[in-house]
Amino acid sequence: MKTRLLLVPALAVLMVDVFVQVPRSITLLTALLLVVVGWGLGHDTHSRLIELQHQVRTDPLTGLANRTALYEDLAVRLTASREGDEPFAVLLLDLDRFKEINDSLGHHVGDQLLIEVGHRLQPMLRDQDLFVRLGGDEFAMVVPGDEPLPAARRLLSALTEPFLLDGMRVRVGGSVGVARYPDDARDANGLLQRADVAMYVAKAAGGGVSPYDPQHDQHSRERLRTVEQLRAALLADELTVYYQPQCDVATGLAVGAEALVRWRHPTRGVLAPEWFLPLVEQAGLMSELTRTVMEQAVAQCVSWRSRGLDVGVSVNLSASNLLDEDLTDHVVALLGSSGLPAEALTLELTENLLLSDPERCLVTLERLKAVGVWLSIDDYGTGYCSLSYLQSLPVDELKLDRAFLTDLEHSRNTSIVRSTVDLAHDLGLRVVAEGVEDAAGLDLLRQLGCDTAQGFFLSRPLTADAMTAWLLAPAPGPPPPPPPPGSPALVPALFCAAGAA
Ligand code: C2E
Ligand code: CA
Ligand code: CA
Repeated sequence: MKTRLLLVPALAVLMVDVFVQVPRSITLLTALLLVVVGWGLGHDTHSRLIELQHQVRTDPLTGLANRTALYEDLAVRLTASREGDEPFAVLLLDLDRFKEINDSLGHHVGDQLLIEVGHRLQPMLRDQDLFVRLGGDEFAMVVPGDEPLPAARRLLSALTEPFLLDGMRVRVGGSVGVARYPDDARDANGLLQRADVAMYVAKAAGGGVSPYDPQHDQHSRERLRTVEQLRAALLADELTVYYQPQCDVATGLAVGAEALVRWRHPTRGVLAPEWFLPLVEQAGLMSELTRTVMEQAVAQCVSWRSRGLDVGVSVNLSASNLLDEDLTDHVVALLGSSGLPAEALTLELTENLLLSDPERCLVTLERLKAVGVWLSIDDYGTGYCSLSYLQSLPVDELKLDRAFLTDLEHSRNTSIVRSTVDLAHDLGLRVVAEGVEDAAGLDLLRQLGCDTAQGFFLSRPLTADAMTAWLLAPAPGPPPPPPPPGSPALVPALFCAAGAA
């Protein structure tokens, strides 16, 4: 506009040149100057406008296009498609484990991951593909044609290689939902909503690609209903606790039990935690769940001890529990009212949880430690904590993840377990091995000097009553000598109790 406005005086100057006899070189120069200045001013505004437009359509963190750009792109495609009915698809990608990475390694690492995802995926785009970040860890891709599944698989395969974040190799999976135009929806919101529904189906299946299916709508309605049912379940005491024994490896005697939550669903039976804990966390109900579990577990442990059984109980904490300022007060009140000695209660935390906000976690851990409860690092070996870091924390116990136990005869795993046990003992920590599934594993743990064992070989998680019966059954005495090589492993009768889950 400004360019055009300045062209007028430039022409006027040239006219002056025609009617008034000033030297031609001067008029030409003035006109040129006006055009250049005008163009300059206009160009400046124009480029700023373009820049502004670019900013509005760009995600500031990753530099990828954003939601606005996606809607614009969809509007263009929808118009073009209506004319010639060109098919295309919307792919919605949600990173798996992003919250865990963000919580455990910090937001700067989470941000770095999102940027890296953009770097990896951008070079894979074809001419007419659009890849945008919608927000959080959600990305969308628009691909032309009616064969979107190969593009969806390419998206996921780009995530297969671990990401190098803050010097650590971190594996990140993804879940992709796919909605097609015109089959699944005929407008932008419809396509995004259906891709979202399909993405949740992929997530529930543990990741991968899921094309939209009308039956999925039912699934998404069910998710919402489940959250409501969970709220009600907490009020109606439908959440119950199962117990899995922990035995001293040297003597075979039970020393405690891990409390594992179950949901006695009115129509779907007893549900395992993997089915509802993610929803509990999403719905902000984790503090309530932990309190319910802790209350049941503490009361149960008091009852066992009143029958002369010298056992403790372990309760799992989750990420939000450590941010709950009232946790320690609640533990103190519970121990006070129940009379359970503090050292009979162990709280289990995963190592990644500790890295989320180390300073704040340390304060919480020290407060809990001052109360006298035991603190245990759960799933040890799967996260990013080093033993030397753990040394700086007031923890008492390491629970070796069952991944090391599944293939214990494998010499590498044996060496890892051996050196972890030795190092942990040097640091004054007790070592619990999880996932002991056979006699050979238990025997090897004995040789490696592990303190406590837990796993299906000893017992599956049991209802409170079945666990009481298990504990009251005659003691097995010292563990039997290892069977001669080649003979089948014997499972002591004591280890087969009813009511297992
Ligand atoms: P976890 O804390 O690692 O608990 C051990 C899980 O391993 C239990 O699964 C148990 O049944 C299973 N397990 C025990 N021995 C064996 C074995 O020999 N082989 C195999 N394959 N599995 C074994 P469960 O009860 O389904 O719990 C799964 C996870 O849910 C727990 O893993 C824990 O992270 C979480 N969870 C359970 N209860 C609670 C709770 O009250 N609060 C919180 N925050 N998390 C809980
Ligand atoms: Ca645990
Ligand atoms: Ca564990």
